[in-house]
Amino acid sequence: MVTDLADMVKPSVILDGKQTSQVLLADLKQEIQVLPEQHRPKLVVVIVGEDPASQVYVKRKAKVAQELGMHSEVRWLDATTPQVDLEREILDLNKDVSVHGILVQLPLPKHMNTLDILSVISPEKDVDGFHPVNQGRLLSGDLPPALPCTPAGVMHMLHAYQIPIAGQHAVVVGRSNIVGKPVGLLLLQENATVTVCHSRTQDLAAVCRQADILVAAVGIPRLIGADHVKEGAAVIDVGINRVDGKLVGDVDFEAVKEKVGYITPVPGGVGPMTIALLMRNTLSLYKAAGQ
Ligand code: NDP
Repeated sequence: MVTDLADMVKPSVILDGKQTSQVLLADLKQEIQVLPEQHRPKLVVVIVGEDPASQVYVKRKAKVAQELGMHSEVRWLDATTPQVDLEREILDLNKDVSVHGILVQLPLPKHMNTLDILSVISPEKDVDGFHPVNQGRLLSGDLPPALPCTPAGVMHMLHAYQIPIAGQHAVVVGRSNIVGKPVGLLLLQENATVTVCHSRTQDLAAVCRQADILVAAVGIPRLIGADHVKEGAAVIDVGINRVDGKLVGDVDFEAVKEKVGYITPVPGGVGPMTIALLMRNTLSLYKAAGQ
């Protein structure tokens, strides 16, 4: 029997971050709503300065936390705040037993040392998973309750769509401490064979073409084109770039979407997952604190 060619071309699956995050948020809400009002998870976000993008993110985080029935608070500090004052603020939050998750919004003003600040947050309240102790736990495979939100969001998306990971070749483009490296480690933890690329990688397209799972976390609009992907691959686009007032990813979605098996859109892909995972992390830290 001759099969119609149209039947043989399998359309790629769009990995819907909005829907996947809503499902996760609904589950979290159910868990939180039954907790006593006075003893619910509490997230505190500290923001220093007036970076407009950071302000939008921070307000959104607080709003979603409230919608779930968690307690949340935003502490706004002036851009000229001395580092020692921010450290004191964090030390006070560390001591406050009603607070379960502390997030310092990045980037910090230039006069502050980010690693010093992140190291002051108690590892037990480190909701972003950026404290050196928690990064070390991720490296050693002894996973802490709160994993970096965007990498954990990428993994959640792969799980939600039942995309095989073990034994697959995963290529991560980007090696930042907040996205590229942790996502590589999480994929390795789940038994993928992992290659991490960066700005010095030679023949990026050839390396990416080997990927069963391709994660782009670079910050260059549409860097990844049709030439970079293998047929049927799962492509996860972490990039958020603004081009002519529009948000675009690191992947050329239109050029790639017909060739691959799965692909995340931008916006509406990894972005919404990040906030949902922040909420899950806050609940996980609350539980780990034995409350
Ligand atoms: P960084 O700028 O910290 O890191 C970018 C990485 O890309 C670096 O490792 C760099 O390599 C690598 N790189 C740069 N140019 C190339 C190139 N030509 N080829 C291959 N690799 C290259 O970015 P982040 O990791 O913080 O963020 C990456 C993207 O993800 C951004 O667009 C950001 O906005 C977005 N993002 C999205 C989030 C979400 O919620 N969806 C959350 C966080 C980030 P090298 O190390 O050699 O310099």
